Amino acid sequence: MEVIRSKTMGFCMGVKQVVDLAHECLRIAKDKGVPAYSIGWFIHNQRVVKQLADLGLRHIERPEEGVPGVALIRAHGITDVLRQEFIDAGYELIDGTCRNVASSQSIIRNTGKNTLVVVAGIAGHSEVVALSGVTTTENILVPTVVVQSVEAVQNLPDDPKTVILMTQTTLPALDYRAILQAMKDKYGTALRIGNHLCAGALRRNKALLELCETVEAIVVVGGKNSANTAALVRLVEEFGLPAFHVESALEITEEMRSFNCIGLTAGTSTSQHDIDDVYSELKGVSR
Ligand code: SF4
Repeated sequence: MEVIRSKTMGFCMGVKQVVDLAHECLRIAKDKGVPAYSIGWFIHNQRVVKQLADLGLRHIERPEEGVPGVALIRAHGITDVLRQEFIDAGYELIDGTCRNVASSQSIIRNTGKNTLVVVAGIAGHSEVVALSGVTTTENILVPTVVVQSVEAVQNLPDDPKTVILMTQTTLPALDYRAILQAMKDKYGTALRIGNHLCAGALRRNKALLELCETVEAIVVVGGKNSANTAALVRLVEEFGLPAFHVESALEITEEMRSFNCIGLTAGTSTSQHDIDDVYSELKGVSR
């Protein structure tokens, strides 16, 4: 069986940075003799999270869950309110917020009072939570409305003076375009576009669609709770090919090995190690 790897896949710039910073967080905490934490799951990759947990990086959601130490902010960011709570409790923060997400938060922070801030995204996704919890320099929470569908756009207020559309950077491109069009139809010239889908994630989509042209099915490697991995699976299904979503080589089945030619891609939280494991398992060679 032939296994063809996508030209672009695996760790994105933001994930590479936060993994490096997780090691930095452990090092600083060790030097100071204090505990090391990640605030929330810092990436959607259980193997990498476990590796760092084994080295001593403890996952907490709130400051009162630990004694003050050094705490890593995940790539998707956290709310300004939570950030301040950790600082007030005496934690030292290592900021792993991806620069794309930090830039989105900065745009929201500076929108001004009379602008309706709409966030296109999956309610409850950590990036959407971070974008919905931005405070101004006067420490006032910027109100936001999350929309997950075109239908939700119809329920937005009809006559704000100005509207800004922000987006979760890894939202499936088709969903984003549908929401964007609905927003343009509803608000016309009152609409401003705040940020865009992540260019790195879009490059992965493009490479995957090229791969779909040449194979019979695709294996997508990535966390089951990873939004961008789910978006890759959906892209394959919309193209009309069978898509198999696995987290590790342990999930490779005989059905996947039954194709003459299968493609391999991976979400932005998937390490090269996981990709190589799955590749070897599909080929039936040990590493
Ligand atoms: S997918 Fe894009 S926005 Fe999200 S962490 Fe990676 S580089 Fe940043």
